[in-house]
Amino acid sequence: MIKALKNNNSVLAYKVNKDFKDYKCPCCGELVILKKGMIKTHHFAHKVTADCINASGEGEIHLSAKLAILNNLLDKGFILDEDVFIECMLPNKKRIADQQS
Ligand SMILES: [Zn+2]
Repeated sequence: MIKALKNNNSVLAYKVNKDFKDYKCPCCGELVILKKGMIKTHHFAHKVTADCINASGEGEIHLSAKLAILNNLLDKGFILDEDVFIECMLPNKKRIADQQS
């Protein structure tokens, strides 16, 4: 996932740093780890194997494509969590939409 919560506000992995240790999953509220290396798209992962729909690993192509689409929308003036939503739980609570606008 490329989005997590920091003090109940949405943050994107590529915009934050590892100094903060209490990023939380927007779906289940459990702590997540910021993965910010040199090769893969910056993202968050659950600390432990969690029974969360957001805990399934996403491939690098999926993460980078999701981030590219999001950044394109943000560059056009859309506002995160107001105009465009990412990684949000669908009403049936069994699936997560990568993006909605
Ligand atoms: Zn979770």
